[in-house]
Amino acid sequence: MFKVIERLLKDKIATEELSFSGSERYRGKITGSCPQNLRAACAAACPVGAFQPAENEAGYTIDYRRCIFCGACVAKAMGAIKHENSDVMPVLTETAAEVTAAAIKQKLGRSLHVRHLDAGSCNACDFEMGAMSNPVYDLHRFGVHVDASPRHADLLMVTGVVTRNLEQALKMSYEAMPEPRLVMACGACAAGGNTYGESYAIVGAADKVVPVDIYIPGCPPRPAAMIAGLLAAADMLKAKM
Ligand code: SF4
Ligand code: SF4
Repeated sequence: MFKVIERLLKDKIATEELSFSGSERYRGKITGSCPQNLRAACAAACPVGAFQPAENEAGYTIDYRRCIFCGACVAKAMGAIKHENSDVMPVLTETAAEVTAAAIKQKLGRSLHVRHLDAGSCNACDFEMGAMSNPVYDLHRFGVHVDASPRHADLLMVTGVVTRNLEQALKMSYEAMPEPRLVMACGACAAGGNTYGESYAIVGAADKVVPVDIYIPGCPPRPAAMIAGLLAAADMLKAKM
C-alpha cells in the first residue's frame, strides 16, 4: 500500500503534445485489401452495418460514423485487413483546415464554448470527454471551455444514442443556443446511431433530431480525436460568423 502511495507521489503528470495514435493494441483505422470471397462474411459479421463490400481497391468501405471498432470484420478477413493503432479523424460536413490554439484566437477572436449533452450514452464517451480537461490533454490550452448552459455555447457536443427520454432535451438545448451554432456528434452512438439497434426507446443518431456538423468516430473516441474535432469546429464557426 505504501509503495503505491510512494509511486503516486513520485510520478509526475505532464501535458503532452496531441497524439493521434494509441497503444499497440488500440483498434483504430482499418487498412488492407479484403479478398472478394471474404467480403460478404466481413459484412455479415459487422454488428452495426458499417462494413460494406465495394468495387474499389480495398474491396470495402467503412462508415466510421457507425463503426464500434469491435474487430469482427478483421477476424473474418483472416489477416487480409487489420486495425492500425491510429485514430480515425473527425468527419466534417464542411471542409475544415487544421487549426492550432493560436489560429483559434486569431480567427475566432475568442475561446470556443462547448455544452455537453448525454443523450443516452453508456458513459464511456463521457469519461473520455472528461479526460480532455486533465493535465495530459489540457483542453484549456486551446481556448476551449465546457459550459453549464446551452445559452452560452457555440457548440453542442452530443454523446450517446438519442433516446426518446432525451430527444426533447436535445431539441431544447439546440434551440437555446445563440447563432451561429454547431453540433458535434461524438462516438458511434451519437454519430451512427446503430450501436443499440432499434427499439421503442431509441430515436437513433443525433442527426435525426438536430443538424450535425462534425462526427467523431470511436466507441469511445480517444480524447485527442475529440480535441481535433473541437479545433476544426472553431474554424467552421468562424466561417459561419
Ligand atoms: S470493426 Fe467496425 S466495421 Fe469492422 S465489424 Fe466492427 S463495427 Fe463493423
Ligand atoms: S459510442 Fe460506445 S462508448 Fe460512446 S456511448 Fe456509445 S457505446 Fe458508449
